[in-house]
Amino acid sequence: MIFRLAPGTPADVVQELRDRLEKVGVRTRLSPETAQPIFAAVDKVPTKLGEEIAAHERVLETVTPRGAWRLADRAFRNTPTVADVGGVRVGGRQVVVIAGPCSVDAFMDEAADQVKRAGGHILRGGAYKPRTSPWSFQGFGEEGLRLLKSSGNRIGLPVISEIMDASHLPAFIEHGIDCLQVGARNMQNFTLLKAISSCGIPVLLKRGLAATVEEWLYSAEYVLAGGCQNVILCERGIRTFEKATRNTLDLTILPLLREWTHLPVVVDPSHAAGIASLIPTLSRASVAAGADGLAIEIHPDPSQARSDADQALLEGELAQITADARTLGAVIGRRE
Ligand code: PEP
Ligand code: MN
Repeated sequence: MIFRLAPGTPADVVQELRDRLEKVGVRTRLSPETAQPIFAAVDKVPTKLGEEIAAHERVLETVTPRGAWRLADRAFRNTPTVADVGGVRVGGRQVVVIAGPCSVDAFMDEAADQVKRAGGHILRGGAYKPRTSPWSFQGFGEEGLRLLKSSGNRIGLPVISEIMDASHLPAFIEHGIDCLQVGARNMQNFTLLKAISSCGIPVLLKRGLAATVEEWLYSAEYVLAGGCQNVILCERGIRTFEKATRNTLDLTILPLLREWTHLPVVVDPSHAAGIASLIPTLSRASVAAGADGLAIEIHPDPSQARSDADQALLEGELAQITADARTLGAVIGRRE
């Protein structure tokens, strides 16, 4: 249950109400919301006590979350979350474009220049790659993180890279990676989610290959529960019976997530389609459906990309997508 209090309620009154719950073993969490005090009871609230607290003069309303998540629920914040990734606001007015190669490779610097020129806001590059086959390129590992960050520093953009194992976290911290990507294959790696939740680095949580929205939000809840407030959801297509495309881009859930959660949502049309020519159209559709950002794979020479070559776009195509995102964003009221 989520308790939403009147703006200006003194902190000691909020604490007093929380204490009444904590005393009977109900854990509570305070929302980071600044406009009004909001707190959630994590555990089931005894009916009578719940009614008593709801009747308190300072309690404006109580909301029962749709699922057993609490901190990810829309009612836990007054305004939607704006995640701060190295100074780039994700979930604000601007449609944020995350772009770069699937894997960090010898073209990293060139790719970074292209992302910068094309108007991208966050530079991506995979250093630890989750590959279906153990014989496929596995990524440069820590050296990849170093190369990515050095490119990011040079062009003045924050960087994001996928973390697959908690034991790699010290390297991500050491190299100043600005956002941790949790890939589709690890969405329910709860040990990893817990491990990264308290390190202070923003987390972009991709939807699992066949995950329901509920499962996805429970995973987000793990990260929020550990203290990370900068959580970004990323729709990247789900597995369906359709084999003509790599995955099926599920845009239906964009307006749904707006109702269910306060978290920003980014769309990755690259992994959804798996086919470069489809990505510009899917990018426009994503912005129109309310995406807070796009995650796009590019490569200076796709034929030489070490992974996901078929979906790599060229600089000019990325530039068109960022321009379209700005134009469409303005049309739907996202004035920067
Ligand atoms: C990636 O971003 O390169 C990636 C592997 O994505 P996903 O986890 O969505 O498959
Ligand atoms: Mn990829």
